[in-house]
Amino acid sequence: MEEKEKIKKRMNDLYKLINYYDQKYYIENNPVISDEEYDRLIHELSALEEKYPEFSRQDSPTKRIGGKPIEEFKSVKHERPMLSIDNTYNEEELREFDRRIKRALGRAVEYFLELKIDGVAVSLVYERGLLTKGASRGDGFIGDDITENVKTIRDIPLITPINEKFEVRGEVYMSKFDFERLNREKTNLGEEPFANPRNATAGSLKLLNPKEVAKRRLRFFVYGGFFEKNPPTQEEVLEFLKNLGFPVNPVRRKARSIEEAIEFCKEWEIKRNQLTYSIDGVVIKVNSIRDQEILGYTSKSPRWAVAYKFPAEQATTTIKDVIVQVGRTGTLTPVAILEPVHLAGTTVSRASLHNFDEIARLDVKIGDRVFVEKAGEIIPKVVKVIKETRTGKEKEVIPPEKCPECGSNVVKDADEVAYRCPNVSCPAQIKERILHFASRRAMNIQGLGEKIINVLVDRGLVKDYADLYSINPEQLERIERMGKVSSRKLVENIQASKNIPLQNLIYALGIRYIGERASEVLAENFTSIDEIKDADEKTLANINEIGPVAARSIKEFFNNPRNLELIQRLKRAGITTEQKELTRSEGKLSGIKFVITGTLKNYTREEMKTQLKRLGARVSENISKDTNFLIAGENPGTKLERAKKLGIKIISEDEVLKMIQ
Ligand code: NAD
Repeated sequence: MEEKEKIKKRMNDLYKLINYYDQKYYIENNPVISDEEYDRLIHELSALEEKYPEFSRQDSPTKRIGGKPIEEFKSVKHERPMLSIDNTYNEEELREFDRRIKRALGRAVEYFLELKIDGVAVSLVYERGLLTKGASRGDGFIGDDITENVKTIRDIPLITPINEKFEVRGEVYMSKFDFERLNREKTNLGEEPFANPRNATAGSLKLLNPKEVAKRRLRFFVYGGFFEKNPPTQEEVLEFLKNLGFPVNPVRRKARSIEEAIEFCKEWEIKRNQLTYSIDGVVIKVNSIRDQEILGYTSKSPRWAVAYKFPAEQATTTIKDVIVQVGRTGTLTPVAILEPVHLAGTTVSRASLHNFDEIARLDVKIGDRVFVEKAGEIIPKVVKVIKETRTGKEKEVIPPEKCPECGSNVVKDADEVAYRCPNVSCPAQIKERILHFASRRAMNIQGLGEKIINVLVDRGLVKDYADLYSINPEQLERIERMGKVSSRKLVENIQASKNIPLQNLIYALGIRYIGERASEVLAENFTSIDEIKDADEKTLANINEIGPVAARSIKEFFNNPRNLELIQRLKRAGITTEQKELTRSEGKLSGIKFVITGTLKNYTREEMKTQLKRLGARVSENISKDTNFLIAGENPGTKLERAKKLGIKIISEDEVLKMIQ
């Protein structure tokens, strides 16, 4: 009895909790837990309802759609209910779905696979060739009349070539680029950011002024349609919609078995980050419309479709502390120490906060509950504070006055966001600087990794990178796990790095703002370190791709007597630079600037870069006004949008190959 009471109480708690989360999510577009946590609660409740039907309620959130129409808009009754889709995070449940379909129909079926766009469902009605109604899903039966708002979405056709009355369903979404832009604008205004593009889309569609909606640059993909006479399969419905001028997501295909569908899910779980918009899974639909009709619906979702959801990229957790790390060039980076949380397949306990301006912008405090996200990056970031749960005991994060590594007073340039430790001998910097100096694209010293560097610095054997060249094998042998052979080999590798291309040496010095590309440009314009040292600031600033900030930084570097001494010592150690092989002006593409995006068919991006550079072209990572061509491969990234915006010529891989030949 007591056990049953406990269960009843848990179910009641779950009803209350989920209703509250639904209100925050669907009505306020401001979730306070992550989707995965929410789905876990729904899962728990469904399992309890199945086992204890006596405690289950008619109006349970497991049986109904979470949204509601809102007062500000006129209500619209949907001709056909707009339902949800059953979801799972688990392959085995997809196989179970397949078995259920086979049992119900007595045979196997073909599936149609589509990406699950992380946006908001809308219904669009067309009559006599015109868009006459746009509605949100609401509670699935009654939604909001958002016709004027959807008309501002440029992907949505206002006229169609057919006269019959028909309805289409699709997903309104916001690109990752526009989402980030919107959140930056919001936080700069002191407003709360949206947790994800879906909430941002929902919030935007509910704005009462269509002009404001237009500014949000919403997009649309259609995924279904109802005509007087429907084409026989989902595949053909989409093809028909495409011919009518509706935007259909190009990533879609048929699958002959559930195993094929699972493969597609896995493929897109990896490739999801290449897209310019968010997806949260794959929707698997029975392809035949006739079969769909036979299978029918539950109160909440069709029996002929299932959504496979990818492991969540967002989680909520608590910030236990904020520490400050000192980087290679002395930049102080605040890092959040988190209550460990499971996220996208790993447990994370740290998240980047970028800089102190970002902390102020997001209004992060120690003790806050936050959303952390790991969308393709290795280090997760804090995206949003859940202000709801603040108790008043949270502590402000204050930028440090002293470097946590060496105690020097920190500095902050007026035009920069980052605080820096100005001490070039700061131990934190030495280790990082040597690691950078030895790295593949710098001096390329094999075998000189983090652990050995730590020991060398901690034992006082190396105080800067010039010291590396006077190390002998006997000193190395004393380091734990360094045998005779490996010690000798490492010293050989260090000595072998003495003759190196100029650009590697420039890069190895670790001058602020002089990354790989700037090092390459400097090596194209000068023949030695001394020439760069003697160049005046104006000359440096006038070099294309260098500019005033990098020029000032180069001058600062060479004005510092300690750095000059370091370079003298490197010279004394015997460092020389190789002659350049080819001057850029000789190539047939000299002076032309390319950027590459997406996946190429015939080459990797690196190979394409090398080919172009060999012909004198310049290849950069980022689009700028002086980019001449964007080479767009498959699944291009945000660069494509930026190039379009700047009116830069976009060419295919085939076109560039023609140019090369
Ligand atoms: P859903 O978003 O999981 O799936 C159904 C929706 O998918 C459809 O309505 C449609 O809009 C969309 N969709 C995208 N691409 C599609 C395609 N190609 N074909 C068909 N449909 C496509 O379901 P839902 O009912 O809208 O929302 C429930 C989910 O929302 C939960 O599982 C949870 O993840 C999230 N949620 C989170 C919270 C929270 O507090 N974090 C609260 C409530 C709901």
